[in-house]
Amino acid sequence: MLSNKTIQIVKSTAPALAEKGLEITNCMYHNMLSNEPEIKKMFNISHQRSGLQPKALANAVYAYAQNIDNLSALTDAVEVMAAKHVASQIKAEHYPIVGKYLLAAIDQVLAPGQEILDAWQSAYQFLADILIAREHILYKQQKDQAGGWPGFREFIVSDKVVESDCITSFYLVPKDQKSIAKHLPGQYITISLDIPQGQYKRQYSISSVPNDKYYRISVKKENTPCGIVSNYLHEEIQLQDSIHLSAPTGNFYLKDNDKPVVLLSAGVGLTPMLSMLSFLLEQNPTKPIYFIHATNNSQSHAMRTDIDRLALKYPNLHIFYSYSQPLEKDIQHQTMHKTGRIDMDWLHHILPGNDCDYYFCGPQSFMQMVQQTLHHWQVPAQQINYEVFGPQMA
Ligand code: FAD
Repeated sequence: MLSNKTIQIVKSTAPALAEKGLEITNCMYHNMLSNEPEIKKMFNISHQRSGLQPKALANAVYAYAQNIDNLSALTDAVEVMAAKHVASQIKAEHYPIVGKYLLAAIDQVLAPGQEILDAWQSAYQFLADILIAREHILYKQQKDQAGGWPGFREFIVSDKVVESDCITSFYLVPKDQKSIAKHLPGQYITISLDIPQGQYKRQYSISSVPNDKYYRISVKKENTPCGIVSNYLHEEIQLQDSIHLSAPTGNFYLKDNDKPVVLLSAGVGLTPMLSMLSFLLEQNPTKPIYFIHATNNSQSHAMRTDIDRLALKYPNLHIFYSYSQPLEKDIQHQTMHKTGRIDMDWLHHILPGNDCDYYFCGPQSFMQMVQQTLHHWQVPAQQINYEVFGPQMA
């Protein structure tokens, strides 16, 4: 347990962390990644370069200081962190290294004195112990479930299907031909690639319905010169090539509930929704489902034929498409339900009411718009579920 004194001291640092948190985490990552090559391999360096990772950690450190006297407010954040750590194979032995660099960075930027540093040391260890315990359970579940495995397992690319002008799907089967863990619809795997440019790990949501034979991932080709892994997958990887996968993880998955389900996506945020949609229709073919997707136009629209076909078969499935840059032919044939971006008024117009279970995923501005809308509609937190394709910001 943390002492009252530690709690008070750490909480008193929250204003300084609000102001200098990003400076602290930038300093921490710079020193740690320069001196610890083994730790560096576990991080997505693109998220360092874009500044997203230091920003996410600064937010997390501030939230911890702010809520250290009310830790239940952090339960969801701890769950997300634990799942992301498991995805990156972060283990108990890595925590002292991260702690050392975090404390040193607090000292370097704030020079707060020994009493505050000692309080932060205890607070860090306390949170590390909670995360390590939770991650231990998640690692064990990954390994012990039917078809599960620890660490990475070799898979083969059995099929590669172009879904749109920027998204291609990859069908991945285990090399040992044994069964694989059935994911919860919405979860993701981590791929580990050893390619001429270096060793990379990336997460991809599973876009197929849960099964024990294969996973399908659907990947957007990022613009070069960034986009190392997605370009490698699109351009270089061939059928029968090997790829190493972690077992599925993640806490964005369908919850069992009676309410209508709204699956809301933009761009490649579509991928977890595909798995959820197929699963929902398989398990509960009469449940009202609102599948809403935003993309540029018909050329970038992935898997539309599959979804349109499902909507013809299941009258309870209501589909809505919004194109921000429709092509001439899209306008002529009215292939979309809305032109421009999805907004609150349109959602209000097409949904049966606010009392639904919401699942959403897409670029940052889209996520903010949906979050603000649901907040405005006073949708309870337990009905709001989302995935972030990068470091979690809140
Ligand atoms: P990177 O080389 O990592 O570059 C990605 C971006 O980083 C660039 O576009 C740029 O914005 C930034 N960046 C890189 N280098 C720099 C630099 N020097 N300066 C400034 N900015 C820079 N993606 C999918 O396509 N489909 C999915 O289903 C999917 N699911 C995901 C699920 C989860 C849980 C998570 C966390 C991510 C998911 N992603 C998904 C994203 C995916 O993991 C990769 O991030 C994505 O494919 C890009 O990787 P990359 O190596 O191609 O690009």
